[in-house]
Amino acid sequence: MYESNDPAASEPTLPGLCDLCGVETSPTSQAFSLVGDSSCIHPYDPDQDGERLLAACGSDHLGQLQQRYWERPFVKEELWAGKIARALRMQPDLGAEELTEAAGLSLIQIEHTLAWESERFLREQAPRGESEGPEGEEGAHSPHEPG
Ligand SMILES: [Zn+2]
Repeated sequence: MYESNDPAASEPTLPGLCDLCGVETSPTSQAFSLVGDSSCIHPYDPDQDGERLLAACGSDHLGQLQQRYWERPFVKEELWAGKIARALRMQPDLGAEELTEAAGLSLIQIEHTLAWESERFLREQAPRGESEGPEGEEGAHSPHEPG
């Protein structure tokens, strides 16, 4: 057992665990790849938004991770929502025009994002509300026969 009080440890290190199986990667077998991921927002650099660095213990697991992200839809609104959230985290009070500059988006893109977010919110709420209701008591028999 040892403690890492080494000042050299403050420099940024690459992720040391396989994103798929979680084992520690070894320098000889580790593999990295950059994939598109609209949910991945860089903490401060907009140029790196939408890109995720994958780390794996080997090319086999890296391939499986890549497949996962290639199958995942890249949703522009999701990316924009992340940009807006980051801009508002840095500067909580922004007018519409300031927000476009801070987030690097147009007003139309911001409106799209808001519509997308509320739609997603409603979609997430819907199944919960429905499951609470009584199960199909009406409609089991039809009260009125047409004709
Ligand atoms: Zn692995």
